[in-house]
Parts: sequence; C-alpha cells; structure tokens
Amino acid sequence: GAVLGIVGGGQLGRMSAVAAAQLGYRTHILTDEPEGPAAQVAHAVTIGAYDDPDALRRFATAVDVVTFEFENISADGLELLASLRPVRPSGHILRISQDRVAEKRFLTEAGIPVAPWREVSTPQDLSVARTDLGLPFILKTTRLGYDGKGQSRIRRDEDMQPAFDTLVPHPLVAEGMVDFACEISVMVARGLDGIAVTFDVTENRHRNGILDLSLAPARVPETIRDDARKIALRIADALDLVGLLGVEMFVDRDGQVLVNEIAPRPHNSGHWTMDACPVDQFAMHVRAVTGLPLPPAARHSDAAMKNLVGPDDMALWPAILATPGLLPHHYGKTEARPGRKMGHVNVLFPAGALPGEFGVDAALGPLAEGYGQQDDPTD
Ligand code: ATP
Ligand code: MG
Ligand code: MG
Repeated sequence: GAVLGIVGGGQLGRMSAVAAAQLGYRTHILTDEPEGPAAQVAHAVTIGAYDDPDALRRFATAVDVVTFEFENISADGLELLASLRPVRPSGHILRISQDRVAEKRFLTEAGIPVAPWREVSTPQDLSVARTDLGLPFILKTTRLGYDGKGQSRIRRDEDMQPAFDTLVPHPLVAEGMVDFACEISVMVARGLDGIAVTFDVTENRHRNGILDLSLAPARVPETIRDDARKIALRIADALDLVGLLGVEMFVDRDGQVLVNEIAPRPHNSGHWTMDACPVDQFAMHVRAVTGLPLPPAARHSDAAMKNLVGPDDMALWPAILATPGLLPHHYGKTEARPGRKMGHVNVLFPAGALPGEFGVDAALGPLAEGYGQQDDPTD
C-alpha cells in the first residue's frame, strides 16, 4: 500500500492520518513531538526538526507523496523534499502562505479583494502606512503568526513605535482595520486534474484571538456565499493548487468579501465537515494529494463546531461525553495549557435548520457560553 507523508505532528496531521487510513493508506509523520497528536495514530514517525536535512531525507524516502499540516518549513527544506518526492501542495504555495507580504502581493496581483495594506520595514514606512490607512490599523509580523499572536492594533499614534519595536523580525505588514459584519471561510480542494470543489461557507467567531465557534452554513445572503466560493476557486486556480486550502475572509458592512489569509492545509474552521459531510475536509485533502477523484463537497446537515481550548474547556470533557448530540473530537494532547487547542465538539442540525444564536448555545449544553463572550471586532 502507498504511504502518505505528512510534515507536522499536530491535530491536523492526526485527523488527516485517520482519513488516510480509511482510504487504505499508511501515514508517515515528520514531527519533533514523538508523542504528539499525529504520531499517536500514524503508521510510522520520523522524529526530527523540520529544518534538519537528515530527518527530511529519511522521511521523504520512506513515503510516496509529501503533504503538510505544518506550514512553516524552510525554503531549503521544501526544496530538499521536492527533489525526492512529489510535494502537494507545491512549495511555491507554502512560500506564499508563510509570508504575509508574499500572500498579500499574490492576492492583490490575482485581483482578489483584500484590506488595504502596506509593507513596513522602517519607521518611515510606518508613518506612510499611518497616513494611507488611517487609524485604527493592524500591524502584523509577516511570518509565524497564529491565533492572533504576532499582531498589534494601532488605535493611537502613541501605539505605533512600541508595536514596531515589539513585533519582530521586520518587515511587518500594516493592514487597514476592516469593520466587518462577520468573518467567513471557505475550504477548497483541487485535484491533479485541476478540478476543484468547495465546501459550504463557514461563519467564524473568535475569542481571545482564537477561533471559538464555526457555523455552517454561514448566515449571510446567498450572493455573498457565492462570491466567497468563487473567490476561493479563483485563488486555487491562480495557485495551481493540488490539495486543500482554507481561505479566511471578512464580509464588510457593504457586503463585500475581502480575503484575510490563506492556509494550504486542513483548517480549524473546516472541522464541522467531519460530522456534517459524507466526505470531510481531511478525506478531501488526502484524496487531492494522492490523486484520487474528488467527490462533491456535499453537506447533509447544518452544523456548529466549538473549539475546546485550554484546561477550562477540557474540564468539561466528562460532561461533554454525557451530553446527547455533542460529537466530541479529542486531539490526544496530554497537557492542557491555557490557549492550547485540545479538541473540538460538533453539533448537527437538520439541513436548513441551523438555529439562531441562542439555539446554538442551547445545543452546546455544558459548552454554552453566551454570545457576549466572543471578541468585539472593534476592540
Ligand atoms: P490564525 O490563527 O487564523 O492563523 P492569525 O494569527 O494568522 O490567525 P489573522 O487571521 O490575520 O491572524 O488575524 C486574527 C484575527 O484578527 C482575524 O480572524 C480577525 O478577527 C482579526 N483581524 C485580523 N486582521 C484584521 C483586519 N485587517 N481588520 C479587522 N480584523 C482583523
Ligand atoms: Mg494565520
Ligand atoms: Mg487567521
């Protein structure tokens, strides 16, 4: 049987490995975490740093095709892998998504709407960005940011210098603050033959900078959902994607869809597909990178997905298991540090019957939290 190589040992690798097993593949994980979420379920593991040529070589020669759940592998590492085995999605896509400047440049050149942005290398660039974008704006590191880390909101002129000094390394990206009505995302899969499918549009709510709740389908007009799917397909084509890509977007107050960022891998906001779709995002990902046909990204139910973050949420695990209708997914992490994603819970509703906010909250049982708890976009 064929072996799928997955770079990265976290929960996305774990769930990809389970999906791969269901399709008859074995998986081989490259990770620096011997007991991590993916290593626990994989057929084989190479332990090593992601920039260690020996580890990369041992890993690649043990597999038939390489894919990723961890995006931040070095350019040299990508080149080494690509010299040994087919790498899907290809290295050029990872290089774009690793770097916010490259990402914004690519999106802008592809004619995809994004928030106004400026590259900021010097204090002079910063004051130009301040003038061009107005207050408030956001300053972000170009690399390695996740869960809202590596970014700072500039509300007053006095915020600029401390943020510039704290966020490293430079260059940074300054982005105009989008006064969004909501955040949405689209998972798009594209096969070797160039045929692409999109899952239904997801609505996302964050808490402390971390994705908290996803709802599918997004409660936005159908025209906006169409726009979002078309944008995701255009991005997939422009990248010549083979694999799966998550596209995060804002819907602004005028109903315009702006792309925030892209991630060429399964995405947290697509976890609802695991229970609401006959072929979920992980199965679609495995199919795309192994050259299998892509079935329609159909959805049989409406769904809500709630992330389990840190020790407080995990304290509810026994209560979650005891609540009918909650569909729990555990990532196998032993230590529940604050802010760490430990698992998620899906709840299904009949297609077309996604309830309003209070109905979703009620269905979450012990995880109900009140919608007032989510991040205020203006804050
Ligand atoms: P992720 O964990 O999704 O990778 P990240 O750390 O890469 O997150 P972003 O997605 O860029 O960061 O930003 C995190 C959140 O901050 C967004 O989901 C959104 O809520 C808010 N945000 C980011 N950029 C903007 C913007 N230009 N205008 C308004 N809100 C923004
Ligand atoms: Mg990100
Ligand atoms: Mg994001």
